[in-house]
Amino acid sequence: MKTPITVAHGDGIGPEIMAATLSILEAAGADLELETIKIGETQYKAGHKSGIPDEAWDSLRKTKVFLKAPITTPQGGGYKSLNVTIRKTLGLFANVRPCVAYAPYVKTLHPTMDLVIVRENEEDLYAGIEHRQTETVTQCLKLITRDGCERIARYAFEFARSQGRKKVTCMTKDNIMKLTDGMFHNVFDAVAKEYSDIESDHYIIDIGSARLADTPEDFDVIVTSNLYGDIISDIAAQIAGSVGLGGSSNIGDGFAMFEAIHGSAPTIAGQNIANPSGLLQSAVMMMIHLGKNDVATNIQNAWLRTLEDGYHTEDLNTPGHTKEVVGTKEFAAAVIERLGQKPQRFKEAQFGDSSQKMEFSFSATTKPKAVKKLLGVDVFVDTFDYDANALGTKLTELSTDNLRLKLITNRGVKVFPDGHPETTCTEHWRCRFLNPNGSDIAHKDVIDLLSNLANEGVDFIKTEHLCSFDGEIGYSLAQGE
Ligand code: NAD
Repeated sequence: MKTPITVAHGDGIGPEIMAATLSILEAAGADLELETIKIGETQYKAGHKSGIPDEAWDSLRKTKVFLKAPITTPQGGGYKSLNVTIRKTLGLFANVRPCVAYAPYVKTLHPTMDLVIVRENEEDLYAGIEHRQTETVTQCLKLITRDGCERIARYAFEFARSQGRKKVTCMTKDNIMKLTDGMFHNVFDAVAKEYSDIESDHYIIDIGSARLADTPEDFDVIVTSNLYGDIISDIAAQIAGSVGLGGSSNIGDGFAMFEAIHGSAPTIAGQNIANPSGLLQSAVMMMIHLGKNDVATNIQNAWLRTLEDGYHTEDLNTPGHTKEVVGTKEFAAAVIERLGQKPQRFKEAQFGDSSQKMEFSFSATTKPKAVKKLLGVDVFVDTFDYDANALGTKLTELSTDNLRLKLITNRGVKVFPDGHPETTCTEHWRCRFLNPNGSDIAHKDVIDLLSNLANEGVDFIKTEHLCSFDGEIGYSLAQGE
């Protein structure tokens, strides 16, 4: 019986690389029943703000396996990224991106590079919660959950174990974002303790990316949050040879989506020059996911042999090893011609081992509820009319018995009391009110304070509660606080 999957041909180079990939799958006997859905640019233009019509969801719910070509996200106009929508709607929490060098046949400075990036796929700045708060100040919310951290950390270690990999490296920016990235790092460390057979380490993302670009051979599995993962996987794919080589799987409970890591490359669309390898590599991952390991092995070996034989798309052009620069279609034909053959120099692919398919389930660790206390409130105020001292004086007057002004910051730097005259201030002021006797307050205290501010015409634009959890403060201190 044929295996049903959902397919989207995408935008830009999508239709060309999808046609090439499907022709190889068919020739290799993948035996798939394709349900084609229309998503992307045409659907955005037809009025679907998220680029996907309802009937497409029906197909995805039915097949639960999605082979997706890249999509163009129109700039501006309130369009939501379709990729983000699909990943989040289907709960595809892990994005697995292998980045491997194919030297000497594909040029690279890192011939032994062979790493996998496990990117958290649902959280972080990709929540897409943005606000223009004042005339000149915008914000984007970075949301990180403990369960999200734990699930991706466990997935990375389980993945490493199932693939016989030796080390998992975490990358964060927890020297700056102590609560969000700090939680990612702390949870990673706690999970790592349960996997004593696998080495673990941590890099701050800036030096981590630099090391990755310089000595990728030192890395094995990297786990990181959504945005950092997006950036470093393009770097890793490019230094391995080409962004056109990278495939990925997006894994959730019961759903999986397979796609190239690159985008729709509109500038080279329709010219039969795009490399279909990234999408083909994701299709190989899909075959393993479907348990069709023989087909995956056959395609992978034929593809490796094609690279060895020097049939390369333009992006892989490697002096001394490229015998012929071929187009997208011709590259696919060369792979098909080599089905049943094995590489001569590359290590032969063998996906026969059932350990290649990884079973993963995660249930949140149920913890007793922390004791939460409300200690104060940060009130964000929009005003061009005051300088720091004048605003501080006014808000001190408007303070209540239970909520006194402690300090004001501007873009995170303390400007009242005792600010520095050199600090550039915007109209966006974060005003911190705390109970002077240190004990907790009630929601009513916040409302009383806000009533005072409203009555005096203070334009408050948002509030953030300052809480402690089991006695540990749950907010960052201001620079200079
Ligand atoms: P891109 O990945 O499309 O292109 C970056 C560069 O890599 C370009 O020079 C391109 O020509 C080259 N390239 C990419 N794929 C290639 C291939 N298969 N063969 C040869 N060369 C290839 O990134 P971009 O230009 O920043 O984005 C273009 C569009 O793609 C945007 O609308 C973006 O939103 C979208 N995008 C979609 C996805 C997705 O669907 N998963 C991912 C990233 C970007």
